[in-house]
Amino acid sequence: MVSFSWIRPQPAGLFIEPAQCWIDPSRPVDLALVTHGHADHARGGHLRTIATPETLAIMALRYNTDVGKTGADATPVRYGETLALAGGVSVTFQPAGHVLGSAQILVEHAGERVLVSGDYKRRPDPTCPPFRVTPCDVFVTEATFGLPVFRHPPIEQEIARLLTARAAHPERCVLVGAYALGKAQRLIAELRRAGYAEPIFLHGALEKMCELYAGHGVDLGVLRPATSATRAALTGQIIIAPPGALNDRWARRLPDPITAMASGWMQIRQRARQRNIELPLVISDHADWTELTQTIGDINPAETWITHGREEGLLRWCELNQRRARPLALLGYEDEDD
Ligand SMILES: [Zn+2]
Ligand SMILES: [Zn+2]
Repeated sequence: MVSFSWIRPQPAGLFIEPAQCWIDPSRPVDLALVTHGHADHARGGHLRTIATPETLAIMALRYNTDVGKTGADATPVRYGETLALAGGVSVTFQPAGHVLGSAQILVEHAGERVLVSGDYKRRPDPTCPPFRVTPCDVFVTEATFGLPVFRHPPIEQEIARLLTARAAHPERCVLVGAYALGKAQRLIAELRRAGYAEPIFLHGALEKMCELYAGHGVDLGVLRPATSATRAALTGQIIIAPPGALNDRWARRLPDPITAMASGWMQIRQRARQRNIELPLVISDHADWTELTQTIGDINPAETWITHGREEGLLRWCELNQRRARPLALLGYEDEDD
């Protein structure tokens, strides 16, 4: 029987009592361990933040008032490096394959090992190192796509659909909605991997994060600002913008855009219709149902704690497969990053 009373799910996040620290807290705390840079995990305002160097750089870009400034303290920890905290707690950050810098956090105390996944996926992603299977007693997994209906197609297939739509309409342009952290850069890197060598045009809100990725060695090829480009220059081109910009005034000056969106939620036709998406691309930075269940099998923990999404489906799967599991009632996480 496992105890693990030293790590407690609380509404604001997972609290590690002996070290008096939190993982991905949803409110400002004294000491935060942050799995990755998406806003629902990496809140600003902590007194001290421990994260990978890439995540700290992303946080500094997004909240330049919090991390690294105004006395706030940031401690970088590289993948595979173990850090000793107070109260006999040690933490090791392992790649999660979600976005640049994303980590699972292995927390060890009194001979017990809890692995907190943060967000993750198992599919290859040219912008970050792959998820590392790490032995543990308790695996805390996300469940964003925790229902058997969610199966993400191979990304090559979705990239091919995008390139086919562009080639079929040389007088138009393809406008793809993609979130600024992770999705936009993965989309660009996959277009390059598919042999697409044209300049890719960016909405201004994506430029800084793409520069940050390029600065960390992720090759994105030639990127140009869409806002200063002429209508003629944009004809026949691929333009990437945050989802919120797809239907706003900014998009009206583009040459008859084919509106696309890259998200795991595009598998749900109704969501694509609601957003007026002509070309839904099912591209997700979260594990789908197959990846979630495969990962629990690969790690084979004594117990699985499920959070952050559709807990019920995964809970039921664990029961049916004679695996100990429980849902965690953590607040403040959203699906927004996909
Ligand atoms: Zn995320
Ligand atoms: Zn998340």
